[in-house]
Amino acid sequence: MSESLETPVRLRTTLDSVPGYKPGRPAAMAAEDSERGVTSVFKISSNENPYPPLPSVLDIVREAATTMNRYPDMASSELTHALAQRVGVSADEVSFGTGSVGVLASLIQITCEPGDEVVYAWRSFEAYPIVVALAGARSVQVPLDADARHDLDAMAAAVTDRTRLLIVCTPNNPTGPSVRADELRAFLRSLPEDLLVVLDEAYLEFVVADDAPDALAIYREFPNVVVLRTFSKAYGLAGLRVGYALARPRITTALRKAATPFGVSDMAQKAAIASIAAFDELQERVVSLVAERRRVVDALGEAGVDIPDTQANFVWLPLGERALEFAAFADENGLVVRPFDGDGVRCTIAEVEANDRLIDVVTRFYAG
Ligand SMILES: *Cc1c(COP(=O)(O)O)cnc(C)c1O
Repeated sequence: MSESLETPVRLRTTLDSVPGYKPGRPAAMAAEDSERGVTSVFKISSNENPYPPLPSVLDIVREAATTMNRYPDMASSELTHALAQRVGVSADEVSFGTGSVGVLASLIQITCEPGDEVVYAWRSFEAYPIVVALAGARSVQVPLDADARHDLDAMAAAVTDRTRLLIVCTPNNPTGPSVRADELRAFLRSLPEDLLVVLDEAYLEFVVADDAPDALAIYREFPNVVVLRTFSKAYGLAGLRVGYALARPRITTALRKAATPFGVSDMAQKAAIASIAAFDELQERVVSLVAERRRVVDALGEAGVDIPDTQANFVWLPLGERALEFAAFADENGLVVRPFDGDGVRCTIAEVEANDRLIDVVTRFYAG
């Protein structure tokens, strides 16, 4: 047996710049937590839906599990038709992937040659630099403005003849604001018409701002726009990995070629179909989460905590150099949050008890 676990194989150098995935601490109560007197731990670090699966969805997944010796329908035909009908597009404008991150990786693969540029705001979704680097493309990160919003003028100015893809994350993860419809239209009109623009709407269902864009209307106006959505957040299917793109058929065809074969499991396809059918029931949960968001935002406001507008299922604490310190304090109090060193902390709106604790922990931290 070889002495060590070392290997001399050559790996792509780009991997050195790709951060490894740091999983959040599991929410299961650790022994040390009970010693500290903390009786429960809430994981509010991944923007997950706190509600358990709907019984109707769970039943269908259980049933689908009995045929897991078979490959799923590679074309996700039934889901494609259900979704196309729901959204009001044709089936050849819909393509699925292993979460919308999977679809995004395919979008980069179908647009970027090595060295081509992908423009997006920063700070934004952590997965962007990873999927861009792995495709051999180059990230061009455009700083958010002082209100933690996309600076669309600066993003337009960052586009060069090497830019092949541009991402608008609305609402923006991790800071919360959505872009305005009018500024987005003007922005899109200013861009080259052959540049693929992704509207990442992972948190669409939580948006209440009157001036937020109707991405579908914009998609119809601009043939270079792709709308990216997911069943992970509002629909509560994060663990099953299913997301989708709405795009012109030529793009859909390319995406289907690039997708991981059989990537979307039969359980995921059926759970998504069942979730579309249970839309009203799921929408009630979204309404509750939005009300909880309002409650948390108001309470933080009363405590004098200044945070950016949020249209998503999380709040952003722009703590700068104190981000890690806050995360440690939250952890001591049974809240697993998502800190970004030197920048801020993202906290998911979750069950009422978790939100109560969040209000308490933030208030005490800012007062101390
Ligand atoms: C959570 C999230 C996604 C969706 O991820 P899935 O791969 O669909 O689970 C996409 N974009 C953003 C900005 C997100 O925060």
